[in-house]
Amino acid sequence: MSEKYYRHTKVDVDLEALQHNYKAIQYLHPAKTFIAVIKANAYGLGSVTVAEYMSEIGVEFFAVATLDEAIELRMHGIREKILVMGVIRPEDINKAIQHRIAVTAPNLEWITSAKSHVKEKYDKEVWVHIKVNSGMNRLGTSDTDEISRMIEEIESFDRFIYEGIFSHFSSADVDSAVNDREYSKFKEITGKVRRPEYVHIQNSPGALRVVDDYCDALRVGISLYGYYTSPFIKDISRVELKPSVKLSTKVMDMHVLNEGEGLSYGLEYEAVQDEKIATLPIGYADGLSRSMTGYRVKLEDGTECLIAGKICMDSCMISVPDDTAVGDKVIIISNDTYSSQSMEAYSEYAGTISYESLVRISRRVPRVYHAAGNGHVNNEVLK
Ligand SMILES: *Cc1c(COP(=O)(O)O)cnc(C)c1O
Repeated sequence: MSEKYYRHTKVDVDLEALQHNYKAIQYLHPAKTFIAVIKANAYGLGSVTVAEYMSEIGVEFFAVATLDEAIELRMHGIREKILVMGVIRPEDINKAIQHRIAVTAPNLEWITSAKSHVKEKYDKEVWVHIKVNSGMNRLGTSDTDEISRMIEEIESFDRFIYEGIFSHFSSADVDSAVNDREYSKFKEITGKVRRPEYVHIQNSPGALRVVDDYCDALRVGISLYGYYTSPFIKDISRVELKPSVKLSTKVMDMHVLNEGEGLSYGLEYEAVQDEKIATLPIGYADGLSRSMTGYRVKLEDGTECLIAGKICMDSCMISVPDDTAVGDKVIIISNDTYSSQSMEAYSEYAGTISYESLVRISRRVPRVYHAAGNGHVNNEVLK
């Protein structure tokens, strides 16, 4: 990790916004364990920094998608509980044991296979969370006989601990009866088998819409970072989330485009009258997708400027007022929910969702963390 960086394009990450969001969601569910979902490098924000910060403010449980992500956290000194929500290869079970990581069991066959791979060398147990399929049809089983047999297999083996049973909502952010149906199915299935320490199904929209005490834990990702998953969830939610991310840059060069002249690759954008153009040091290799041509970024004085012409790998051009100069600040994604450069507006223009916009911000963009007494920079490129 380097504290240094030598470019104007950066992503500011407001760690205190994470604290605000964590506390607001935990307040709705005081009795539940908050599992902070920090897969995919904490949705692009930096999993080690987010884990360190969240553990300092009291979070004791993290979730990631892969065993490599979990080991990465351990190698950086994260000692809290970690669950891998994806299915690890049964032959890698010893790595999970070695690093004290909880794993997901999607079916009986996986458990049998993982058991057969356990070596004597690591004289420790592994925590197992059984995955229930409550309707999404992605992972897990809905067969209660199979689940009962899975529990027996776990409990009859001294190296396995039956710690959790969980599922995942397919449509928690949609205003329909699907979520209730899946939740009922989950309760029905889990009600028939022995209850472990952690029963969990709620993701961010699930945590914001379902407020009862059936579960013992929440798995919150996107809303920890300050985003609602749909206008519906925002409308019904009692929680005021604080966006944590701001993506900005500064003007790198200026040009005058005379009437009829073209701009960028292919010269497809043509000036209908003389026009001032500013070049920004951010391109699709930083995460600004080529589909963002036509999106309006914002100058510090509030002027909105169109991204004109093709977005390049390392830069893009915007049409600007006459008084714009090299060094002027430009907001690409604002941390203000109500701005036309909000994460939601940006993502909608990109034809995607905030999750994908976040993880697309590439390693070339330094992460600048803000927190009282805890501000620092991580530039992945200059490690
Ligand atoms: C990513 C993920 C989550 C977190 O979802 P958010 O909508 O970001 O809160 C929870 N559970 C599982 C299984 C996931 O894959």
